Amino acid sequence: MENHEETKVDLKDRVVGQSNTTEEPAVQVRSLKELLDRVTGRDVKTQRLPEESGLAEILPFPFLALVGQPEMKLALLLSLINPAIGGVLLIGPRGTGKTTAVRSLTELLPEVPRSLCYYGCLPEDIESGGQNAVCPDCARKFAEGEQLFKMDKVRLVELPLNAGLEDVIGGVDERAAIQNRFRMHKGLLAQADHNILYVDEVNLLQDEVVDALLDAAAQGKYTVRRGPIAATYHSRFVLIGSMNPEEGNLRPQILDRFGLRVIVRGLEAHEERLEAYRRVQSYIAQPRHIVEQFSLETEIAQAEIQAARNILPEVKLTDEVANDGLRLISDLHVDSLRAEITLFEAARAHAAGDNRYTVTHEDLRVVAPMALRLRRSKFIKEFFELQNSEDAELSVMLESVISTT
Ligand SMILES: [Zn+2]
Repeated sequence: MENHEETKVDLKDRVVGQSNTTEEPAVQVRSLKELLDRVTGRDVKTQRLPEESGLAEILPFPFLALVGQPEMKLALLLSLINPAIGGVLLIGPRGTGKTTAVRSLTELLPEVPRSLCYYGCLPEDIESGGQNAVCPDCARKFAEGEQLFKMDKVRLVELPLNAGLEDVIGGVDERAAIQNRFRMHKGLLAQADHNILYVDEVNLLQDEVVDALLDAAAQGKYTVRRGPIAATYHSRFVLIGSMNPEEGNLRPQILDRFGLRVIVRGLEAHEERLEAYRRVQSYIAQPRHIVEQFSLETEIAQAEIQAARNILPEVKLTDEVANDGLRLISDLHVDSLRAEITLFEAARAHAAGDNRYTVTHEDLRVVAPMALRLRRSKFIKEFFELQNSEDAELSVMLESVISTT
């Protein structure tokens, strides 16, 4: 992280648009981390704009205007860079900005292809799986050179607390069934394809729902079978869960399947709390105003995330760093194989976000707490200890029985 001055690169050419305020100095950042540091503590101007029209518009609070919470921001950015991390779980009491932060993420991702078809068919499905990978309608359209998608902004799909399995994975389309046509309707997981799926209060959901969504997130697709028909849907989304530990725990096997874990506490420093208060007030009064003040940084962050996603496949993990990571996991007595997947994929994303092609010990150091915390199981540790002593006892008995025959 040293030598910033010598390696600083002008990123203006990586910015999609240009600033609309000419008095803004040219923004020079070398990495996402630098960008985050740059906007921290920045003054939000409070000058009044002409009254906004009465039409309500959903403008998310700018991600870069969030005060403090560096670990939460980093975890969320890493999950956007590398979905193989396996999602992020934000753990903390209410009112700590978890939901605001998650909603702001849609502005940080570039546009994605959005299928025009009910079943979510895309040309990439035909490229990877042939004509049978899409519905007959789309296969015909594709053959005739018709467009199957349009480019669209990433959306935030929020899973409601009362969602049942059928809402989540889909099922039989009752309306079609009345007309004796057996058709499936799409669930929330399929709607989340290419989007961000946010599950607030994940600890209060039914287990079968959480299982289904974690399976779909891990595999990028899922199949629903109902009677004679089955349908397979894509579900390539960034999964973010949040929970308030005061309202109950998450089953260990569910917790294990979340990649990064962030403990979100309230801001402590008075200046930070005041700054957060001012920004929120400014947002409530005139959302467009604060969004505009951070629009240049938002564009740069979006370009940086895209650049990091582009180089990610080439980011290498050396044996030396990998072995040190594995030693850390074994010293912590973490058994789940998901620990190293998350640790190494997060470290690769961190390197990519810093525009580097090799993972360093520093990357491990930064991501290890969020990848490895809450992974040690007292039960499993005691279970193994008990099992080892039982095995030892068994082998002693076995020896004595065999030697006497
Ligand atoms: Zn289709």
